[in-house]
Amino acid sequence: MITEPSWDVVVIGGGNAGLVAAMAARRHVPRVLLLERASAAMRGGNTRHTRNVRCVHDQGDDYTPGTYSFDELWRDLCAVGTGPANEQLAELTVAESATLPAWMSEHGIRWQRPLAGTLHLGRTNRFFLGGGKALVNAYHRTAAGMGVATWYEATAEDLVMDGDRAVAVTVVAGGQRRRVPGRAFVCASGGFEANTDWLRRYWGDAADSFIIRGTRDNDGKVLAALLEAGAQKAGEERGFHAVAVDARAPRFDGGIATRLDSIPFSVVVNSAGRRFYDEGQEIWPKRYAIWGSNIAGQPGQIAYSLWDAKVSRLFLPPMYGPASAPDVPALASALGLDPEAVTRTVDEYNKAVVPGGRFDPGGLDECHTDGLDPPKSHWARPLDTPPYYGIAMRPGITFTYMGIAVTADARVRTADGAFENVFAAGEIMSGNILSTGYLAGFGMTIGGVWGRIAGRGAARVASGGTSGGTSGGSDG
Ligand SMILES: Cc1cc2nc3c(=O)[nH]c(=O)nc-3n(C[C@H](O)[C@H](O)[C@H](O)COP(=O)(O)OP(=O)(O)OC[C@H]3O[C@@H](n4cnc5c(N)ncnc54)[C@H](O)[C@@H]3O)c2cc1C
Repeated sequence: MITEPSWDVVVIGGGNAGLVAAMAARRHVPRVLLLERASAAMRGGNTRHTRNVRCVHDQGDDYTPGTYSFDELWRDLCAVGTGPANEQLAELTVAESATLPAWMSEHGIRWQRPLAGTLHLGRTNRFFLGGGKALVNAYHRTAAGMGVATWYEATAEDLVMDGDRAVAVTVVAGGQRRRVPGRAFVCASGGFEANTDWLRRYWGDAADSFIIRGTRDNDGKVLAALLEAGAQKAGEERGFHAVAVDARAPRFDGGIATRLDSIPFSVVVNSAGRRFYDEGQEIWPKRYAIWGSNIAGQPGQIAYSLWDAKVSRLFLPPMYGPASAPDVPALASALGLDPEAVTRTVDEYNKAVVPGGRFDPGGLDECHTDGLDPPKSHWARPLDTPPYYGIAMRPGITFTYMGIAVTADARVRTADGAFENVFAAGEIMSGNILSTGYLAGFGMTIGGVWGRIAGRGAARVASGGTSGGTSGGSDG
């Protein structure tokens, strides 16, 4: 094993959380190293696929028209899933989000106005110009200008511990094992969603059918090393953000383009041709993220969204195009389903639709079914206008929630306290904030807020201070 010279702060992971932590640390200490497992071309983890960040703002501007108060964001966070996992840390995240957009602008991020078809997030979420790839490029440019060193194709394998302190990280880079010593460490290596064996522990063989929307590099290696070293877990083992994606999507890195948004305007059946969940329960931004789990619970982890010509222009078109047919039985056959079973389901559904309700594709409307189980509560109109369309869907996993418990200064918790000099930020600690549900744009908020806190705390420890103290304030 090669022993490298020592660094003040070593950051593991080159997504949003890691880049923010590295820049925040570099403001206070000179020698900061960022370890990125991916190549330079593929850098940025899941952050590459993102488009927006959700932040408190007491004044509107060109990019987020209208206000979005602490109270409203807090209420929104409490309304998803079973609410925040750790209220103190969740409150801190919401409060600190207010200074995030200005910090991001100072570190090279440019913004764009929200486009149509972006899940109605224009008031609450800020869209970065060029999406996540441009954000990653901008942060790298700024970090390099500040003097942060980056190693690509550098995989952190383990932390070398001495009691409650880490003394080095073991890295495989350039085909060699290297011992990289440091004074403080920030773990920002994402969740474990790309590790099918790990998912299988909680989901059984169903995990083999999951499609991973982001990077194949987030396999939880560092998370496992931390747990092995005595770190405390945070978050639900089965907790993840998962949406319905096109069953033809690539196994990894399909990103945003393979998500399917037809569900509220369609009838969804499983492989037996039966409906299993209310497609019109809520407006789409509040419900799209339960459909990954819904489909994961079905036989073969597959489901089919069926719609007709009346609604085909009401949502973003599926990237690979749907199957189409002049009638329902032919559509079922085209999708490999039993035509009789699907026709029976569609007939029952059509009969249960209550006629005459006000249809409103943009809000909760009056179109619903009566006497159907499960019901369709909104946007229920008969499937009766050819051509008919359909598409096969699979669970698309965005990221896992179970990670590392942290203190309010982002130090990794242990059974009887916390590691002195090991910090965590981003998806790897999102289980402190999110329980079972998700709020669009809040993953980037968690990474930005906790990246700043972790980077600042790590720099403080590296310069000989203790990491305790408040986490408030911005880093310039
Ligand atoms: C398709 C898609 C769209 C999304 N859209 C949004 C959005 O618009 N807004 C939003 O808030 N959230 C969005 N998310 C969620 C979002 O990606 C995350 O919450 C956020 O980007 C996570 O940042 P992170 O830095 O924690 O992890 P990541 O960005 O995934 O970064 C993890 C990094 O760690 C590296 N790494 C992993 N293991 C190792 C190792 N052993 N050694 C060294 N490096 C390692 C990876 O290469 C990567 O660089 C989206 C996710 C996906 C998949």
